Amino acid sequence: RTSVQSGGLNSENGGVHDAKNLRVKLVLLGDSGVGKSCIVLRFVRGQFDPTSKVTIGASFLSQTIALQDSTTVKFEIWDTAGQERYAALAPLYYRGAAVAVVVYDITSPESFTKAQYWVKELQKHGSPDIVMALVGNKADLQEKREVPIQDGTDYAEKNGMFFIETSAKTADNINQLFQGGAKWDANEVFAKIN
Ligand code: GDP
Repeated sequence: RTSVQSGGLNSENGGVHDAKNLRVKLVLLGDSGVGKSCIVLRFVRGQFDPTSKVTIGASFLSQTIALQDSTTVKFEIWDTAGQERYAALAPLYYRGAAVAVVVYDITSPESFTKAQYWVKELQKHGSPDIVMALVGNKADLQEKREVPIQDGTDYAEKNGMFFIETSAKTADNINQLFQGGAKWDANEVFAKIN
């Protein structure tokens, strides 16, 4: 079961259409340094502050967004908080996650390879219903790009993932990323569990 929950969920009266307030567990995965914490801070606080990682103590933040049809989605965002190496934690981390966001850094081919590892992990341990996004972050560093956009697009398509390039620094595509996640949730994940 994915952790999409709603006050209005009731399969007897058409459930999905009554669901106005969804709660979604979202996990972030990716190599250390790709910008996971910065993406969350940009989304939740509208800031880019690479030094504030320590202050948030960094494992859990939430943010609610509104969709066009007046549905709201509250994301409970789980960041590995530098625990990327503790593979033993993984099953617990993935449990109940409706959305997984796998991040790499477009200037780092190693981080792209690592992202593919995380996708396989998710396919192994995540819910079969989990919705996955592949994110190429640091898109502001075009002159240092080493992962072509096409590589990201192709890999995402092969694995049924949503793909987007973002910059936590300039805020490019950050809202689009989470709006995208919310839409899959409402239209796909939630429909599946209903
Ligand atoms: P995490 O380990 O994946 O959580 O990575 P952080 O969020 O701590 O970011 C690692 C470093 O990358 C920080 O020094 C940030 O300043 C930098 N960074 C994060 N996002 C971006 C971005 O979009 N553009 C640029 N240029 N730097 C970024």
